[in-house]
Order: sequence, then structure tokens, then C-alpha cells
Amino acid sequence: MVVAVDGPAGAGKSTACRLSAKRLGFAYLDTGAMYRAVAWSLVEQGDSLTAAENVSNQLSRLPLHFGIENGSLVIYHGARQLSDELRQPEMAGWASRISQIPWVRAYLTRWQRRLANAADIVAEGRDMTTVVFPDATVKVYLTADPATRARRRFLEYRAKNIEVDYTDLEAQIRARDQADQERSLAPLRPASDAILLDTSALGIDEVVDRLVEIIRSASTSGAPQ
Ligand code: C5P
Repeated sequence: MVVAVDGPAGAGKSTACRLSAKRLGFAYLDTGAMYRAVAWSLVEQGDSLTAAENVSNQLSRLPLHFGIENGSLVIYHGARQLSDELRQPEMAGWASRISQIPWVRAYLTRWQRRLANAADIVAEGRDMTTVVFPDATVKVYLTADPATRARRRFLEYRAKNIEVDYTDLEAQIRARDQADQERSLAPLRPASDAILLDTSALGIDEVVDRLVEIIRSASTSGAPQ
């Protein structure tokens, strides 16, 4: 069973999907981390992002491997497991840039479908409901107002002792959302059959309760939402 969740940065997708997946015994797929890993890998290999944008395919140069271990996505670059390096603030902008490259999207879409074959999964990103899993059993579009999203992202960075300026962060989130919504390939938008969940006024426990309720009712009714 695939639960597909899309939404803009800071809507609460990662935490809500991770906790909901855990409660249901599903795997959790953070597809944003996969885009961040491609950007990280290109730069690590000495390729500029502009170079990546200008060639038709650089897959053979990326020693990336994705898997699901203990219900979560694991990412390897050669023998090195990637995790905290992908959460650095600059990675978000890099990921957004390379996410517009057709060969990157095709490569990651293939990986995402392959990973979903192996387990019941909650997959979150920008194009889960519209492109990668158009036949998902459950489709949810998670959103929140821009100020709430910027505040959440700011608190997340602060909890990890990462210094960011609030005004810069808010501007970056707006710019990234706009780029994600306006790109020609797999733009961020609510699928016509997605359930809209606005988390602006909800705490994380309430979001998880609501998401689990939506998933349970869809799986017992057996019908796509
Ligand atoms: O979710 P996260 O903020 O980690 O995603 C980083 C960037 O990766 C997004 O801004 C978006 O440009 C890109 N992305 C995407 N499609 C996905 C997931 C992420 O284009 N399914």
C-alpha cells in the first residue's frame, strides 16, 4: 500500500509522515533527502550544479544507492552513509535546483517506485501524488501558512544548533516554493483527488492523529480517496 503525501517546505510532512508510518508499521520514504543526496553527490564529485544542468545524463558518475532499513530510507554514497550533511541549510536550495533536471527526476522516480515495491510505504515529497504514485491508495496534500512554515523550519535548525537568520530563511522558503510550483517538470500542486490538510493551527500530535485516521479509513474502505 502506498500513502502519497505532498506539500511545500515546512508544512510538517517529514515529522508527520515519519511518525504516522511508525504507528502503522509502514516504511517512511523522505524523497526530499533523495534530491538532496543527488545534489550533494554531484558537488562531492567536483561537478558544478550548472554543469549538471547542461548535460543530458550523469548517472554513471553518481555512486548513490538507496534502500529501506528498519522502516526508513538509507542513502549511501559509495561506502559512506549520508544523513546530517543532507540537512544543512544550503542543501535545500541545491536540491531545488537539480530537481528541475529531467534525468535527475527520471532516475529518482525509478528508485522511489522500486523502494515502494518492497514495503507498505508513506512517501512524501512534491510529486508523490501527481507523478510518482498516481494510483496511491491515499493521497494527502499537507500545507500551512508561509509564516508558520518558516517558523517551524527556523526552530528545527535551532534545535540542531544550526545558525540561520529568520528573515533570510523565510525568503528562501518562499523562493523555493515558488520554484517548485512553477517548474515545468512535476511541479508541486495538490492532486485533484488529494485530501487537503492544513496544519497551521495543529500541533504535531494532532497532525499525526489526523493522518493516521485518513490512512486507516482509506485502507479499510479499500477505495482510493
Ligand atoms: O523535502 P525537502 O525540503 O527536503 O526537499 C528539497 C527539495 O527537493 C524541494 O524543494 C524540491 O525542489 C525537491 N523535491 C522534489 N520532489 C520531491 C521531493 C523534493 O522536487 N519529491
